[in-house]
Amino acid sequence: MYIIQDIMTEIWEPISNTYKEAYEKASKMDAKEIFEKLRHLEMFIVEYPDPYPKMNLLVTTGCHHAIKDGNISGCSMCNDSISRMTDSFAVVNALRHKDIDLYAKLVRLSFENKRGIIREQMGTEVVTGCDCLNEMEFPEQVFKEMFGCNGVFQVRPFRYSFEIRADSINKEKLDMMLGYLGRGRTYIEIGVEVVNEWVRNHWINKNVTDNQIETAISLIREAGCKVNANVLIGVPGLTEEQSIDLFLESVKKLIELKVDRITFHPLNRKPYTLHNFIYENLRDNDRLAEIGIANGEHTGLTWMFTAVEAMARAFEMTPQLKGNFGVGQFNIFRGSDVLAYNNDRECQCNEQLFDVIDRAMKTLDMKELMETRETMKKDKCYEEYLKLIEKQKKAGSIANTVSIVGEEVIKALWPDCWEKKIEKFKKEMESLKA
Ligand code: SF4
Ligand SMILES: [Zn+2]
Repeated sequence: MYIIQDIMTEIWEPISNTYKEAYEKASKMDAKEIFEKLRHLEMFIVEYPDPYPKMNLLVTTGCHHAIKDGNISGCSMCNDSISRMTDSFAVVNALRHKDIDLYAKLVRLSFENKRGIIREQMGTEVVTGCDCLNEMEFPEQVFKEMFGCNGVFQVRPFRYSFEIRADSINKEKLDMMLGYLGRGRTYIEIGVEVVNEWVRNHWINKNVTDNQIETAISLIREAGCKVNANVLIGVPGLTEEQSIDLFLESVKKLIELKVDRITFHPLNRKPYTLHNFIYENLRDNDRLAEIGIANGEHTGLTWMFTAVEAMARAFEMTPQLKGNFGVGQFNIFRGSDVLAYNNDRECQCNEQLFDVIDRAMKTLDMKELMETRETMKKDKCYEEYLKLIEKQKKAGSIANTVSIVGEEVIKALWPDCWEKKIEKFKKEMESLKA
């Protein structure tokens, strides 16, 4: 187990306690009782204007990478699986353990309660939990309920899309899934985050190897589906330039691996993430301020300029990306998440850059994005951006930055026993080639 797993477990501890209490309470009930208690639940739906897909976020057990034996941790930039409904996730999990068929019915009901039975052709439907081939979250019974003969889609949408962890994919499971969905016109989204394996696993806590990603891509393509890879623009605790470098390295490799589409995810600040921890606990830390990682209100958040610059460089590097990309987590979930912004959240440049990215996605014309990359340099926020980039040069290499940030996070989390943890972390750092 890497130290990042300890870090994330510690950050999530208050929620883990609430979760365990709710799970234990629900475990004392019988399956039918739990089912009756939850049967009114509705999935969460995100409806984008055309031509974007409709996102159906089903009520499920939540992410089993994030929930292990009741201890919550998961990827360091993510809180999707738990934050929305900690208590309900725990109760749903109790039902899943007690009665797999009732669980599958509940997942179906969460869809039906919101949208009923679909009887006319729709565009692209993202129908997802956290990991749609995880045996706990998406056993075959769920596919049967949702997509069998009497399922909720009586007419197949034009295109399906599912989010699946690369380490959950194997041929048998894909065959099972496609047996219900039919072959073709299905996208499978895998979270790659960054192709640098050390950063992905020792810092983002993804726990997915390069090998698993490459195998998953081949298997998905062999099964006749399309692969969408999700990558980050902005890695928790790293500098803007380091984040751009990791992003470009990821895009280059994924194009080589022939993924069909890449979705960029600018880093948002959400509760219970690593960068939120840095924001809440270390934004006045002298060592982090010195290298520009702690940066007042802006700590732990990507700049919009970085998102635009990263995209512009990616299109210059790989023109074939045009037409095969999307930008996620960009205009939704405004609730408790803080989205990427420039120096001043109220400055009109944020809205302007958002509109440019949005138009680029719709028209696939990169000209405006490329022009804006130049004109944005006149915005009053840009001077501050340049100052920050200059300051962040002191952070040195990715290895150096991770080492400084990791040490400060460990000291803040374990003020009485940080030495041993830092020693362990330094050992892990030895294998980081950056
Ligand atoms: S990014 Fe995916 S795998 Fe990681 S914690 Fe979030 S839902 Fe789970
Ligand atoms: Zn501005």
